[in-house]
Amino acid sequence: MEVVAAARAQGDDQGDGPVRVGRLGRDRREQSGVVDAGSARLYEALRSSRQGMAVAKVERGICQGCRITLPVSVLQKARSGAVIVQCSSCERILYVS
Ligand SMILES: [Zn+2]
Repeated sequence: MEVVAAARAQGDDQGDGPVRVGRLGRDRREQSGVVDAGSARLYEALRSSRQGMAVAKVERGICQGCRITLPVSVLQKARSGAVIVQCSSCERILYVS
């Protein structure tokens, strides 16, 4: 799953804050296979508490995990791919296709 690659992160674990990643995608060849402990923990925790769904797709500004309309600022962050953005309601990791 492509979004799993997004969980490949760098930087500090800042609790429930956004986790910084370099870029979404597979072009982080120097980091392949290396998963930041904080991000991995986040992903695993979400996966176990969300019936295996740690990520939610965003369609027309709506989180497909819980169907809330997301704030524009959240959408912009998710679109940028610069950080891992979590839904403020269901806490799934958001991705925009
Ligand atoms: Zn949600």
